[in-house]
Amino acid sequence: MAVKLKAQKKRIGFVPTMGFLHEGHASLLKKCKKDNDVSVLSIFVNPTQFGPNEDFRRYPRNFKRDKLLAQKQNVDIIFYPSADEMYPEGFLTSVDVSRMTEGLCGKFRPGHFKGVATVVAKLLNIVQPDIFYLGQKDAQQAIVLTQMVSDLNIPVKVKILPTIRETDGLAMSSRNAYLSPENRVQAPKLYQSLLLARKLIQKGERNSRALISTLRTFILKSITNPKIDYVECVDAKTLAPLTKLNGNVLIALAVWIWKIRLIDNIVVRVK
Ligand code: AMP
Repeated sequence: MAVKLKAQKKRIGFVPTMGFLHEGHASLLKKCKKDNDVSVLSIFVNPTQFGPNEDFRRYPRNFKRDKLLAQKQNVDIIFYPSADEMYPEGFLTSVDVSRMTEGLCGKFRPGHFKGVATVVAKLLNIVQPDIFYLGQKDAQQAIVLTQMVSDLNIPVKVKILPTIRETDGLAMSSRNAYLSPENRVQAPKLYQSLLLARKLIQKGERNSRALISTLRTFILKSITNPKIDYVECVDAKTLAPLTKLNGNVLIALAVWIWKIRLIDNIVVRVK
């Protein structure tokens, strides 16, 4: 299919997802359709990026609903493979981007980014897009995949688009569907903590540890029994941890609210 489209000089855009689509995915699909002749969406809940005690089985799925949202965004092709198609018996190869997968989510989800990089490398080989679209919501994933594409000379451009939020600031996520009403009321506090970080930096805060400590205190007092995996300030390009805040700083967090793990981030330019 890709060969035929390429022979016709069609420009192929691609949005890889795990489905249960929302407005965050829609923003990627809209841009993909606008920039390309053919827009391809993949829906695949990739088992290899979930740890043994993670929510692979519980991850929300609804293909019928996804199809409607895709139609609304004029998606041309939906690629919806089964796990057996993607990982037939005897599958042996994986893609492992080192160092930048060790911190942030990588520290708490061993093997996660290996699963992500492997499946996206496979999807890029299958779809053969000219450009593929990722969300800033998953900042570490976007940076890791950008590195992979560069390191492995995969002939594709990467475009990273801004995080789409609910009106109260909560970053849209398929997992939000599982928040109880009480959790849902508290969840926007995560984004508020990031906005607080931006404000403190604007007021002159340059000490990473002090800033992180303030954010942790804010989260602990505004959410019922949160479990903070991490709140970190890292270089927005390399993901290297920062002691002194300088340049483009990625402030990223992962927090469990009840049994739901939410992530969010912002980038602050520090002069
Ligand atoms: P997922 O289905 O969660 O694997 O996400 C598929 C793609 O959509 C990834 O590139 C995500 O970063 C992106 N995405 C998810 N949520 C959002 C959001 N709220 N805003 C923008 N992009 C998003």
